[in-house]
Amino acid sequence: MELTEAVSALIGVGEKTAKLLQKIDVATIKDLLYYLPRAYKDFSRCKKIGETAFGETAFFELSVYTSPQVKHPRRGLEITSFQVTDGTGIAAIDIFNQYYIKNNIVKGKTLYVYGKLEQKFGKVKISSPELYFKKPSDAFAPIYPLTAGLTQNMMRKLVKQALHQAEIAELYSDAFLRECKLVGLKEALKQVHYPRDLQSAECARDRIVFDELLVFNRMLDLLGKDKRSKSSIRFTGSSAEKFEKRLTFTLTNAQKRVMRELLDDFAGKESMNRLVQGDVGSGKTVIAFFAMDCMLEHGYQSMLMAPTEILAQQHYETAKQLFSESEIVCMTGALTAKKKAELRDKIKNGSAKIIIGTHALLYGDIEFNSLGLIITDEQHRFGVKQRAALSGESRDVHTLIMSATPIPRSLSLVLFGHTDISIVDEMPAGRKKIKTYLIPKRKYNDMISFIKNELLMGRQAYIVCPLIEDSEEMDAKSANAMFEELQKCYAEYKTALIHGKLKNKEKQDIMQGFSAGEIKLLVSTTVIEVGINVPNATVMAVVNAERFGLAQLHQLRGRVGRGAEQSYCFLVSDNQNAYERLRVLVASGDGFEIAEKDMQLRGTGDMLGTRQHGMGTLKVANLIADIGLLQKTREVLTELQNRDGDEYRAITAAAQEALKDKLVEIALN
Ligand code: ADP
Ligand code: MG
Repeated sequence: MELTEAVSALIGVGEKTAKLLQKIDVATIKDLLYYLPRAYKDFSRCKKIGETAFGETAFFELSVYTSPQVKHPRRGLEITSFQVTDGTGIAAIDIFNQYYIKNNIVKGKTLYVYGKLEQKFGKVKISSPELYFKKPSDAFAPIYPLTAGLTQNMMRKLVKQALHQAEIAELYSDAFLRECKLVGLKEALKQVHYPRDLQSAECARDRIVFDELLVFNRMLDLLGKDKRSKSSIRFTGSSAEKFEKRLTFTLTNAQKRVMRELLDDFAGKESMNRLVQGDVGSGKTVIAFFAMDCMLEHGYQSMLMAPTEILAQQHYETAKQLFSESEIVCMTGALTAKKKAELRDKIKNGSAKIIIGTHALLYGDIEFNSLGLIITDEQHRFGVKQRAALSGESRDVHTLIMSATPIPRSLSLVLFGHTDISIVDEMPAGRKKIKTYLIPKRKYNDMISFIKNELLMGRQAYIVCPLIEDSEEMDAKSANAMFEELQKCYAEYKTALIHGKLKNKEKQDIMQGFSAGEIKLLVSTTVIEVGINVPNATVMAVVNAERFGLAQLHQLRGRVGRGAEQSYCFLVSDNQNAYERLRVLVASGDGFEIAEKDMQLRGTGDMLGTRQHGMGTLKVANLIADIGLLQKTREVLTELQNRDGDEYRAITAAAQEALKDKLVEIALN
């Protein structure tokens, strides 16, 4: 069976299962084999009840101690209860509606159980038990990330079948495998699903990540990340001081320094390729507009791309004030075809110099007249192919990326090659530290009254929920439900609900209403996560805060504390397990520090990496967790290039194939 064959070639995959697999991006045998488990069940060693802590999940060899008792508390529900022992302790087990298993439980019989040892109401129990009458033959069983309808058992069977039948060819010579201390591919795929021990699982994963990163590095080379082109777009004479006169505030020293760095770039022989990193609220937008102003002054067009329509619209409003004399276009997906054509004309004939929009700008068949600069704002995702997406003659334009995501120096070197980095390491003067609190259920009502008081004083508030609709499987507050509840609480204030499923026009109206201060309280999903700037808002409450990453919460918190008033961030959560993580935010307001702590806390628990959807290129590798391998593969690639053998040609072919139809995106999270 070839790796490229569809999963339907496997026994047991009909139309329905194929559809479910599609949901987790598994279409081919190869996809299935590269769909890695997120953890393993350890059957390799049996623990004793007496040596297992309460709360621990383990594998036990037990014998049935009491005959099963069957109860029917309601129709359709049958509970079978019995006790088990291994000589070091006795535990109770309940199983639900498992008729086959029930009939085989006989006093004195040996039973293998995988489950969580717990103490409830003074009784020792093994909860969520998985029962086996024979010891499982695999030392470890994979646990896959699933979607509704798929079960671990189905996945395990399919993966086993694929492992047996697929022809897995080795990519490298034996000498190369030895040299790089790599496991063979066939063995790696076997061990990553059904490892002998956890170390083999790790080695196996490393081999798979190695392949991916080697090709990824080659892709970066092909995209010319190291090449600096000569630029004809050169000028001197702009100045930060002149620009500052048009602002309502004085620039921070950090902002001025970065602006000078940009001016040096514009005066140089090569095109600029610069990343501006600065924590949320450090004032990166004004730096972007300064750069655009320089271009305008010298007759060039410039474009500013934002990740969301809401943010593009906000930049447009700011630009209208700053560049009141010039023609500005804002290109978003929401426009009618007629309007888009009109704007495209203005861009083509050069009457519009300031161009704002979403990333659609890059792929919208737009012809520029005199493009000098491309700015990408607030990116957690960096499109490496951005330059390549531009038509030939605009290759020597300057590029600027603005990000609040702290990218470790070592990582940015690999990713961005000779990209220069400017850091905005100073906050505008007069900002107060945002007071951040953890809110358990019992304090929830206090928070609601606190927010009411802020509204009474004329300020505004955001309340963010993780989901739009109530969902039965998840015990999380939905924005819809929250909104209904809050409308009652704050009946005397104008409130609004915003989420990604609204029409663009509706979103725009709501954001404008909130910006203008008409809407006092905004209930939202994370559509407002990046970039939004409403200085009068002083409260950011995040419901089910445990469901968000620290970096994301820090971004959300950055929506407040943008004016002179004291601002507050409330992290509403009843999940004790998340408190250690959330306390990092309570203690620190520094994005870099938070990112570092986050990495430490996630540590090896995240060793297997979570699958990142929509990344195309990197399915298994995680650029942050696998930074060591990223660097190693970079060295290996250089070595292979010097030798110019079969391996190098194979890698180049794979990289070219991957680049063919994909936009290479690098997501950092
Ligand atoms: P970010 O770096 O997160 O993109 P913004 O550019 O949105 O931050 O700036 C946040 C807020 O701070 C905006 O309201 C902006 O007008 C204001 N701001 C920027 N620079 C200064 C400054 N030097 N002094 C006072 N306020 C500033
Ligand atoms: Mg911003």
